[in-house]
Amino acid sequence: MSISIDLSSPEARDAARPASSGSAKPSLVGLTREELGRALAEAGVPERQVKMRVQQLWHWLYVRGVSDFADMRNISKDLRATLAGHFTVARPEVVEEQISGDGTRKWLFRFPSRGAGKPVEIETVYIPEEGRGTLCISSQVGCTLTCSFCHTGTQKLVRNLTAEEILAQLLTARDRLGDFPDRDTPDGAIVPAEGRKVSNIVMMGMGEPLYNFEEVKKALLIASDGDGLSLSKRRITLSTSGVVPEIYRTGEEIGVMLAISLHAVRDDLRDMLVPINKKYPLKELMDACRAYPGLSNARRITFEYVMLRDVNDSIADAKELVRLLRGIPAKINLIPFNPWPGTNYQCSEWSTIEKFADYINAAGYASPIRTPRGRDILAACGQLKSESERLKKSERLALEAMMIAGHGEA
Ligand code: SAH
Ligand code: SF4
Repeated sequence: MSISIDLSSPEARDAARPASSGSAKPSLVGLTREELGRALAEAGVPERQVKMRVQQLWHWLYVRGVSDFADMRNISKDLRATLAGHFTVARPEVVEEQISGDGTRKWLFRFPSRGAGKPVEIETVYIPEEGRGTLCISSQVGCTLTCSFCHTGTQKLVRNLTAEEILAQLLTARDRLGDFPDRDTPDGAIVPAEGRKVSNIVMMGMGEPLYNFEEVKKALLIASDGDGLSLSKRRITLSTSGVVPEIYRTGEEIGVMLAISLHAVRDDLRDMLVPINKKYPLKELMDACRAYPGLSNARRITFEYVMLRDVNDSIADAKELVRLLRGIPAKINLIPFNPWPGTNYQCSEWSTIEKFADYINAAGYASPIRTPRGRDILAACGQLKSESERLKKSERLALEAMMIAGHGEA
């Protein structure tokens, strides 16, 4: 059973809508410290105060999680009014919140239009587990790549998300989970990092993060900033289908953990499943992985491998996988294929997945099988697709029937 809170009625939307959303004012969220300083100076903050104001704002936005200038108590009323006249720090509109029977949550956020474009909607998923909670963040609306087994790949790219919109997913999720300190915490107090609901983030939602490198970089550097959101870079994982030049840049300029959507161990098959392989074949991809900075047994690359029945799930594939990864500190994440209406692929038999996992385990690799989460709310890997192409009722019913028929284990 899942719970869905539909916020699409006008009344419900009004209740959920942050006071200043929809305004055309630029947001202060997602700016680097330098950009924030420049914005404040342009709004009339005296030059000698800028550095201190940047520090104060950083604390309010990223430690305390406030979304209204009125809550920034150590900033004078006059300055708060000036800031509110020029900028916004409001959250996006939450169109829908769904809570799966297994505790997974999925939000549909709406971001205002940028320039001539229309407003866009994107999905973010929260997965609570024993001892940690992971937020799965989107980097683009749709995707230009067309991996043949991925639902997002069937949707055209609408646009890149900005750093503000990438961070807004984290900030709004933390609001909804009660993961920011309450208003009564004394100003300037250090808030403990322990016991956080969102302890990890993965760039594994919609889109290819390395096709939106600059905005993703800005957002992740802010998420890992020690005076703000303070997420350790070891708890941030960026997943890519294999955009080789930007893998090198990720290592040098961002320094988060890397996950590679591998899915096939031969170029001919990977060309079909993950077409970017035609541009950056396996040899180049593996070279970039070997060169990724800071790898060790404690800092391994995750290789994602979707289990497709009779396509890539033989023991010969497992053998080749072990050979391919030799010398790279790696863990292999086996993902049971999540079906979607219109796909020709099927998930491998459970026993086949187990045999595959046993083989690579015996070769010394951790190979957890990713338990499908939130399937009842279409929150599982590769099932994300935004409102702009929301499923018709008939498609949803077909999907449910597929899951009951073939994937009762979920
Ligand atoms: N574009 C990036 C990140 C998003 S996809 C990438 O491709 O890495 C997150 C993971 O889910 C990827 O490994 C992707 O290949 C996988 N995935 C996509 N569709 C899937 C499906 N239908 N079932 C299972 N996993 C899927
Ligand atoms: Fe895009 Fe990743 Fe889906 Fe491929 S798997 S289509 S890169 S979102």
